[in-house]
Amino acid sequence: MEELERLLSSKKIVAVQTAPSVRVTLGEEFGLKPGTDVTGRVVAALRMLGFKYVFDTDFGAEVTVLEEAQELLERLEQQERLPLFTSCCPGWTRFCLKQFPTLEQNLSECKAPQQILGSLAKTYFAKKIRKQAKDVAVVSIMPCFSKKLEAKEREHAIAGASQDVDLVITTHELAQMLKAKGIDLRRLSDEEFDNPLGVTGGAGALFGATGGIAEAVMRTAYHATTGGALPRFESNMRPALGQIKEYSIMMGDRDVHLAIVQGYPNASVVCKRVLEEKRNGMRSLDFVEVLGCIGGCVGGPGQPDTGEDAVLMRAAALHERDRRLPLRSAHDNPAVKKVYASMLGKPGSAKAKKFLHRGQRGYAEMLKTL
Ligand code: SF4
Repeated sequence: MEELERLLSSKKIVAVQTAPSVRVTLGEEFGLKPGTDVTGRVVAALRMLGFKYVFDTDFGAEVTVLEEAQELLERLEQQERLPLFTSCCPGWTRFCLKQFPTLEQNLSECKAPQQILGSLAKTYFAKKIRKQAKDVAVVSIMPCFSKKLEAKEREHAIAGASQDVDLVITTHELAQMLKAKGIDLRRLSDEEFDNPLGVTGGAGALFGATGGIAEAVMRTAYHATTGGALPRFESNMRPALGQIKEYSIMMGDRDVHLAIVQGYPNASVVCKRVLEEKRNGMRSLDFVEVLGCIGGCVGGPGQPDTGEDAVLMRAAALHERDRRLPLRSAHDNPAVKKVYASMLGKPGSAKAKKFLHRGQRGYAEMLKTL
């Protein structure tokens, strides 16, 4: 809280971003039913705390989708470093590097959504408001403590000068701050995120629950391969709480095999299987989404602690949000397209790698600290 006060009273322009899951969990801290979507009220509350700009981590998630889909398609084409493991969950990436270091090369090189949003806020957005990276500070509202460690990793610094994200606060910590300031979420009216880093759709929202990253990435990879839209997921294609889920999607003439993994014991099972298959010269999986928490970030340790039913209701609220929003796929997001058109070029370009990827060197750096 003191660090935040210091930032808000500094000369910096302080922007804040909220993770996909926070909008369906913060309400519980104020007595609302689990899964109540309080997106607009979170924005209003953050403005009352003094943030100049309120951005949506869902935007960073949608950029992640474009980069990770490109990474998957390239690896499938070259038939190397498969299966591709997602890297959005810092609890999982640390677990993987520590317990299964030889799988490092399989981890996605993309930064996580909070880091991508931070990087774009200090480059793309800073330029828009005629400022430099050093003039802008970014605070994140996140579902867990490992996001605090992620923000401090050395590869998450723009041109080595400043951190992509300056300060991370959990959902529960945000609730404490709001209560200390006498801000009651239930009494606030909805407000909109600031543009352009607040224009988002269903793909970004899905990141908050298990299975959502894979679903969002497949929408874009499928479109890039076939030109069409991925058929809507049936609810039985989404994983049950605590279970590993596997399915295949026919993309053009290629059958892509996916696994959705939640929780570290399940992650161990899948990592051991991948290593065993590598030893035997086989491969049964192409893409593996791993999130450390059961249910994904809606079940994160920085969220209100209200049990399994609450986790299910929160995930259902994000799925509902995805159904309701007119933009379903990250590659259709006009604000995301604009960032690529004016700054990054194409997904996977040298510029995209500079600002949005941590690269193999990033993991090598992290390995030294574990
Ligand atoms: S799954 Fe859990 S540990 Fe991983 S980013 Fe989400 S809340 Fe954090």
